[in-house]
Amino acid sequence: MENKSASSNFIRNIVIEDLQAGRVKEVVTRFPPEPNGYLHIGHAKSICLNFELADEFKGRTNLRFDDTNPLKEDTEYVEAIKEDVKWLGFEWDGLYFASDYFEEMYNRAVLLIKKGKAYVDDLSAEEIRKTRGTLTEPGTESPYRNRSVEENLDLFQRMRNGEFKDGEKVLRAKIDMSSPNINLRDPVLYRIAHATHHNTGDKWCIYPMYDFAHPLEDAIEGVTHSLCSLEFEDHRPLYDWVIRECEMEHVPRQYEFARLNMTNTVMSKRKLKMLVDEKIVDGWDDPRMPTIAGLRRRGYTPEAIRAFAREIGVSRSNSVVDAKMLEHFIREDLKLKAPRTMAVLRPLKVVITNYPEGQVEMLDAENNPENPAMGIRQIPFSREIYIEQDDFMENPPSKYFRLFPGNEVRLKHAYFIKCHDVIKDEQGNVVELHCTYDPETKSGTGFTGRKVKGTIHWVDAKHAVPAEFRLYEPLILDGQEDGDSFLENINPNSLETLHGFVEPNLKDSKPHDKFQFFRHGYFNVDPKYTTPDKLVFNRIVSLKSSFELPKQG
Ligand code: ATP
Ligand code: MG
Repeated sequence: MENKSASSNFIRNIVIEDLQAGRVKEVVTRFPPEPNGYLHIGHAKSICLNFELADEFKGRTNLRFDDTNPLKEDTEYVEAIKEDVKWLGFEWDGLYFASDYFEEMYNRAVLLIKKGKAYVDDLSAEEIRKTRGTLTEPGTESPYRNRSVEENLDLFQRMRNGEFKDGEKVLRAKIDMSSPNINLRDPVLYRIAHATHHNTGDKWCIYPMYDFAHPLEDAIEGVTHSLCSLEFEDHRPLYDWVIRECEMEHVPRQYEFARLNMTNTVMSKRKLKMLVDEKIVDGWDDPRMPTIAGLRRRGYTPEAIRAFAREIGVSRSNSVVDAKMLEHFIREDLKLKAPRTMAVLRPLKVVITNYPEGQVEMLDAENNPENPAMGIRQIPFSREIYIEQDDFMENPPSKYFRLFPGNEVRLKHAYFIKCHDVIKDEQGNVVELHCTYDPETKSGTGFTGRKVKGTIHWVDAKHAVPAEFRLYEPLILDGQEDGDSFLENINPNSLETLHGFVEPNLKDSKPHDKFQFFRHGYFNVDPKYTTPDKLVFNRIVSLKSSFELPKQG
């Protein structure tokens, strides 16, 4: 792993104080995803925070699946999440499922009933919502609130036995219906759901609610610092209530931080699942998705994602991060690592009429001028080459320095060429150019006779390897990332597929090989569509950006 200087943040400061004061012997954190979808870049922020914090203080981090809702969860997601956490470069200490604790949770609920701190309620979900009150008005107590302990124990057991239908009864905490904190107005602890659970099968038909389950999971695992996003701040009194009233031996503490939000991105598994289900993207790992799997397939590296997470930091104020910041970090990571080569995405054939027929010469080309250790390769050059269609204009505006009739340009790593004839089809489209080359101008020979203003890239036509290129734009139109109407604001041009050529050296490229294509940006060999006969490249990011990191104060 790269040498990271731990970035300071308020949670890290709390940890340091807890260690110094002896309140905590060993730092234990957890990453607790619900397996109801694939992880996204927002989860990466939480993963980096939890794992790096524990790592720094030689503590432990658990991966815990918060699988208390059988209706939405699936083992496909469990496997995908494990893969993504590992790929990001982290190793969990314990691997747990909240569902492994169902028996213990049930026993703690029974304890609450015995203490008169929980009761079985017959009100419907709708009635409970209506009687909860508002921010300005207290709630009203349920007519079932004062059932005897014996009756509650009996009914709760029968809920577990499956004697009631979904929604017929719930178990509620008995706290305070007029609390200024609505979360403390007798929150529901258990609900009935006759559904098959991915882990426990049909063993249970009652399931604990998040607010009851989560603190117990943390306490059972000995978690010291339970980090969650800001929406749970108002739930903290309930978190502490559950720990206290259930008489948990270990007392974890909850701390909240701001979620990551990003421009042109939806960042919720529910919304991402809609994109998958509506077939707007080709699966959770579509390279346009902000999922870890999508970013990986696009060509992002774990190093870039971790550097991004470190840069955005951890705070308590919500903000929206410019998606260009993530791009900045992949450029930084690949700058010295990725070989630089030439690819022609929209090919136009050029015949070099004064180059001997049948002759092929090999030209030296540096693999990465910024990293000489990457060495040099040899590329073939002969009478027919491909250049980009838009590197030629028949009637160019002023300041166009690329190829046009009578103009001379430099071919990267090769020679100067000059255009003398334009070949068109019946519709008038340019289909081929005829040029001459000047043998004196060979690259690397120190030719200084005259200068040209344009340098263009090319590949040798006979040796070029056909390839498909997929260029991406944001999936969500600018400023449209909020709300549920995002499906109407999908960018119709988020994917452009082109067919062109790459240098012959790339013939045996493997999935996830990464290159910088001269002038086009960084590309990743797509692991899903690449076959032994067909190379498919995803553009990770273009070369330039107006984005600059904010200056450090
Ligand atoms: P989603 O709405 O995307 O499903 P979630 O919070 O319901 O998000 P969980 O699987 O419950 O997803 O989240 C696991 C952990 O990841 C939680 O601790 C949560 O706070 C954190 N997390 C989720 N989204 C973000 C985000 N955008 N930024 C930072 N942390 C996040
Ligand atoms: Mg969730």
